[in-house]
Amino acid sequence: MSRAGGVFLAPERGKKVGCEIIQLFTKNSNQWNDPVLSKETAEKFKEEMKANGIKTAFAHDSYLINLGSPNETLYGRSLNAFIEEHKRAEALGLMGVVFHPGAHVGSGEEAAIGKIAEAINKTHEKTHGLKVLTLLENAAGQGSTIGYRFEHLASIMEKVKDQKRIGVCFDTQHAFAAGYDLRTEESYAKVWEEFDRIVGIKWLRAFHLNDSKKELGVRVDRHENIGKGLLGLTFFKCLMNDSRFENIPMSLETPKSEDCHEDKEALDLLRSL
Ligand SMILES: [Zn+2]
Repeated sequence: MSRAGGVFLAPERGKKVGCEIIQLFTKNSNQWNDPVLSKETAEKFKEEMKANGIKTAFAHDSYLINLGSPNETLYGRSLNAFIEEHKRAEALGLMGVVFHPGAHVGSGEEAAIGKIAEAINKTHEKTHGLKVLTLLENAAGQGSTIGYRFEHLASIMEKVKDQKRIGVCFDTQHAFAAGYDLRTEESYAKVWEEFDRIVGIKWLRAFHLNDSKKELGVRVDRHENIGKGLLGLTFFKCLMNDSRFENIPMSLETPKSEDCHEDKEALDLLRSL
């Protein structure tokens, strides 16, 4: 949900289209500066959450952050920004900070996985005592990004010291673009068996529900509205009726216009399944 005009406006926007949970940016996602979040703003946000019946919310981190960067300057900047993301999210009472693991930019996947795990550990040290979760999102695998294999998520997670503070956010378009075929009941079951074996379903804390503009396995990150893409409705029907995910918050990240009617349509469609 858009935070235009103030982060505290997001819950009402969510309610208008029928959301029970929302995802939001806690700052401008394309800028490095970290604006101070005032106590008043945080309180107002929490009041608006209650007033609009939004049960839970989580943040998506800034797109500039790359915790896998081999460039020390960029890595340091990313780490600082990541720590601030956690502090803002905690102040707003959010459940977690969803982040794209990062990109190795030529240094290799192994090196980046180590860097990402180190950044998570440093973030947890610097934000000791906070409740907000650090939620690794699976990636489509565009460019040199990490996280398009379940094995990447597992090897980052096993290096994290404070296991109470991590979890996974599963993006359906990213998984499909990364080569996990979820389109039929059979392949759906197989992918979740693999996810459970390698990562563990118990680590799932959030979903991004997106259909795909791109074909299976092409490793391109392009979201499409639910039912209008190549993932298709059989998949979403399976997911909506999967009791393992009953209590896991799910958010849309699909294209929309200013009035958000696409969100309302997508939520109605998903609920009808
Ligand atoms: Zn996503």
